[in-house]
Amino acid sequence: MQVIDGNAIAEAIIKELTKEVSAFTERKPVVAFIRVGEDPASVSYVRKKQKTAERIGIESRLHLFPEDVSERELFNQIDTLNSDSTVNGILIQAPLPRHLNETATFNRVHPEKDVDGFNTLNIGKLCQEDASGFVACTPAGIVELIKRSQIETEGRHVVVLGRSQIVGKPAALLMMRKGLPGNATVTVCHSRTKDLPSITRQADVLIAAIGRPNFVTGDMVKEGVAVIDVGINRLEDRSKKSGYRLVGDVEFITVAPKADYLTPVPGGVGPMTVAMLMQNTVRAFHLAQNK
Ligand code: NDP
Repeated sequence: MQVIDGNAIAEAIIKELTKEVSAFTERKPVVAFIRVGEDPASVSYVRKKQKTAERIGIESRLHLFPEDVSERELFNQIDTLNSDSTVNGILIQAPLPRHLNETATFNRVHPEKDVDGFNTLNIGKLCQEDASGFVACTPAGIVELIKRSQIETEGRHVVVLGRSQIVGKPAALLMMRKGLPGNATVTVCHSRTKDLPSITRQADVLIAAIGRPNFVTGDMVKEGVAVIDVGINRLEDRSKKSGYRLVGDVEFITVAPKADYLTPVPGGVGPMTVAMLMQNTVRAFHLAQNK
């Protein structure tokens, strides 16, 4: 069984990007972050993304808003960033407070600066297999992990657990697209799926993105499966300084003996999401330069 080292793969991508960005002499890519409120997970995700950007030589600009920011104020900031030619990418850290409509907010971002790939136009391009769009970072990271670990997908049965806009649905689209990795036969499961274990047992590749700690157990997979665990769940753990530990949607200890490949949590998909954001930002920079 191979434990897929997401940290190492992400690091290789970051090194490639650092080299690429060091060759830009006149201007450097710029990514703008918008964070609303002080949700601890959001604070830590944005900090991590900023640190990685800094390492690569990407300039990051952080715009903070209080929890009760109005839609108008938020949209004004997005509009300003859209029209600022020095800004290449805009990322709005989700989740947003309930009074703000996430889809409308993501759609306010100019599609060519939508490095998160959440804009309706970019999701449409993904459906149409139009490579000029931006693909959401987590599904893009899943594909990159599969590619760099040389996990075959063509003609194989990929089962995706979860149908969210940001992970499950785009991951399923990427796996079914013409090309590699892709060309898979895809089944998508969700909370209304009946007899889910009978489906997961058929998976050659299982992508778990449901947000339920240790949900997928050894008896739910077949021998030789490749498992990509997207879940990030916090379980209370008083022995840890933080008071919690992170676990995935897959029970590592029972699935590992049956799997050929398995991503750990943490250290699997998580670092890839950050690396893909950086890759999208560098691409947005190229797009702007070539206009
Ligand atoms: P959502 O809550 O948006 O979606 C969860 C999906 O799982 C839904 O489609 C839901 O079904 C389905 N689901 C929930 N419970 C069950 C169940 N018991 N059986 C079958 N299906 C179920 O979550 P996200 O897609 O945003 O995130 C999923 C996980 O991935 C989370 O743990 C999140 O923290 C993590 N994540 C990790 C990232 C990373 O970088 N590694 C990035 C983004 C997310 P239904 O549609 O019917 O409600």
